[in-house]
Amino acid sequence: MIIVLKADVKEEAIEKLIDKISGQGLIVHDIKRGGVGRMLGLVGDIPQALEDSLDRVDIVESVLKVREPYKLSGRRFHPEDTVVSVGDAKIGGGNFAVIAGPCSVESEEQILSIARDISNSGAKFLRGGAFKPRTSPYSFHGLGLDGLELLKIAKQKTNLPIVTEILSQEHLENFAEDVDIIQIGARNMQNFTLLREVGSLKKPVLLKRGLSSTLEELLMAAEYVINGGSDQVILCERGIRTFETSTRNTLDLSAVPVLKQKSHLPVIVDPSHGTGYWYLVEPLSLAAVAVGADGLIIEVHNMPQNALCDGQQSITPEVFHHLMKRIKRVYEAVHEMK
Ligand code: PEP
Ligand code: MN
Repeated sequence: MIIVLKADVKEEAIEKLIDKISGQGLIVHDIKRGGVGRMLGLVGDIPQALEDSLDRVDIVESVLKVREPYKLSGRRFHPEDTVVSVGDAKIGGGNFAVIAGPCSVESEEQILSIARDISNSGAKFLRGGAFKPRTSPYSFHGLGLDGLELLKIAKQKTNLPIVTEILSQEHLENFAEDVDIIQIGARNMQNFTLLREVGSLKKPVLLKRGLSSTLEELLMAAEYVINGGSDQVILCERGIRTFETSTRNTLDLSAVPVLKQKSHLPVIVDPSHGTGYWYLVEPLSLAAVAVGADGLIIEVHNMPQNALCDGQQSITPEVFHHLMKRIKRVYEAVHEMK
């Protein structure tokens, strides 16, 4: 619900109204938008008696019901873009960044070599799975906490912040300590307990779209994280299940402008899981930049043919280097025209 306030009301009267509403367990967003006037955005389960009384408050011009169920992740209460920052590295609000690295951390030599290469090519964050959600119980499931230690070594040597996936609440403390951006994978997008608990760490979160989730469901998942305590959420389009079998998933690039219209959160694209083939990573990365993505997450491996996970969709550091140059050119071309 949005309460539109009359023009020139006293600050004191607004404070009193905010206190009255928050006293009933609701979150109040004070929205100050030039030209549109002052508004209060209410989030939570609004008691009928409060709703009925609002029309009669003398500083209230009108009361509007908001249709969208995503109040915290939506743009309506939060018109400005959110910028997710880790030190100097930023994503969103005009800051474009590339996250790159292997599907999974395999050894110190592997992660260090890839981290150095992608950093030299301009990546701003290092990705690498320590805990891997695999379809088969017999596949490689990552090095676990040892993998996290290797990511820390790579961070020390390159200064690249770490992005890695959490699979279970059991590791919340380790992630709170060592991880810069906590990834929630597609398979856990609707693990509501995990979403809330990860949110409570108040750290940046990379939330990937579920395999068969609508954009509204993705925004509601982000709502859980923000409600849990972290407003630093990055949304990620990583392809969805369709009838098409030529690619691993169908990369839904229309998700980018749609999400950016509905939400203030940064939106990035994963062309690696989105297509499943290394040679499709370049064209889809460029297309993602052209439709306005705030960043990309790309799987890079120094020896894709020997990778323990997702080698067929991983590009080499050489291809990545070339791709970064082309990304820059498309980014400049698109943003120059604005
Ligand atoms: C990954 O990023 O390695 C991964 C498992 O992604 P997703 O959750 O999108 O499948
Ligand atoms: Mn992968």
